[in-house]
Amino acid sequence: MSDRDPGAEPIVVGADAPAWRHRHLLDVDVLAADEIDLVMRTADAMKGILARPIAKVPALRGRNVTIIFWEASTRTRVSFEVAAKNLSADVVNIAASTSSVTKGESLVDTIRTVQALGAQMLVMRHGTSGAPYLAAEHFDGHVLNGGDGWHAHPTQALLDLYTMRERLPGGSIAGRKVVILGDILHSRVARSNIWSLTAAGADLWLCGPSTLLRGLDRWGGRAAGFPGHGRFTVTSDVDAALRDADVVMALRIQKERMDSGLLPSLREYTARFGLTLDRLAAAKPDALVMHPGPMNEGVEIDPAVVALDRAVIEDQVTNGVAVRMALLYLLAGVHGAEGAHDAA
Ligand code: ASP
Repeated sequence: MSDRDPGAEPIVVGADAPAWRHRHLLDVDVLAADEIDLVMRTADAMKGILARPIAKVPALRGRNVTIIFWEASTRTRVSFEVAAKNLSADVVNIAASTSSVTKGESLVDTIRTVQALGAQMLVMRHGTSGAPYLAAEHFDGHVLNGGDGWHAHPTQALLDLYTMRERLPGGSIAGRKVVILGDILHSRVARSNIWSLTAAGADLWLCGPSTLLRGLDRWGGRAAGFPGHGRFTVTSDVDAALRDADVVMALRIQKERMDSGLLPSLREYTARFGLTLDRLAAAKPDALVMHPGPMNEGVEIDPAVVALDRAVIEDQVTNGVAVRMALLYLLAGVHGAEGAHDAA
């Protein structure tokens, strides 16, 4: 930051922080444990900025952040917009539903068009798994994945991790029992969380009806290659999963991605797997309750659970702004070796 940027203290992450090495953020699987830690520390600094009377710094002044979502979103889209504005970026918001995408324009043509219009950082959400990887091949700047199909939601996983570190006594996830409960099959949130939570050493449990756990045992084998990973358990036994849990994260049943026949009915799902006060009683008394939103209260989570003080669902939303500020800042190359990027 230069002396010509008035009215803001510098963003201090710490002299011993590792350099950021990534040009894009497509998933968390490429982040080593020290890089995840860098994101957490940078987000701490961003939280400090959010606590200032004027939560705005000039770090990304003059940079164009273009946000284009092909799928619905409230939290992620707005949070990226607020984050980019807090860093003084020029934000361009495109709703795919009102863009030339509706006239049949391809993803690659849309990417080239927004680039020609000045986009330097592209935040995107797409219904097709892998779409941001294709975008990254055709975009000269930085791509941030705001969720692709069933595949990945890296910023959600990082804000979840940040919230756990903030709210768990002692601030460490290592050895903590974290349960992700619900529609794991269709959940990009669960997939990204598997990488970051196992990297942080959590005792991770994935729980849901067997039809919504399909393929995960096989996928779990891949986690063995991840630096600092732990193992995870896949089960349909909700009582075993919740027993002595430190964190319970409920997931929405993603009806929009669901083939028929995977669930007999939502009512049956709620009866067998819904997170109620009764079920939660098996977890530790102070267990955190999380949900990435949007919630279907009364389906995957009971309103009485949402109302608990230890339900940190709004903290997740607030922390999402700090974490996304941190990621925009790191990707823009403001921290560490200027312009040092790799292909990931
Ligand atoms: N908001 C999250 C996502 O975009 C979770 C959900 O939609 O249920 O993946």
